[in-house]
Amino acid sequence: MKPYPVPMSLCPTCGYEPDYASNMTGKASPRPGDYSLCINCGTLLVFDDDLKLAEFEGLPQITLDALVKIRLSQAFIRNRGPLHPNDKPT
Ligand SMILES: [Zn+2]
Repeated sequence: MKPYPVPMSLCPTCGYEPDYASNMTGKASPRPGDYSLCINCGTLLVFDDDLKLAEFEGLPQITLDALVKIRLSQAFIRNRGPLHPNDKPT
């Protein structure tokens, strides 16, 4: 996975500020509408038109295989614990 720089934005759940994103399924850079997971807390997010992270609402339109990958990744992140436990939501 190649990391791509993304515009500054904050995870709406934990306030983490990611500066890079990588694609779990390939080498493509993020595009508007792509799903993302916060690496700090595991919240499912979506890239907006400016490639900033926004809260995802509704059910993701994805395959069962992709949903399983998301759930496994969220379990890994949440079992590991936050990267920055002292960060507060804004
Ligand atoms: Zn987060």
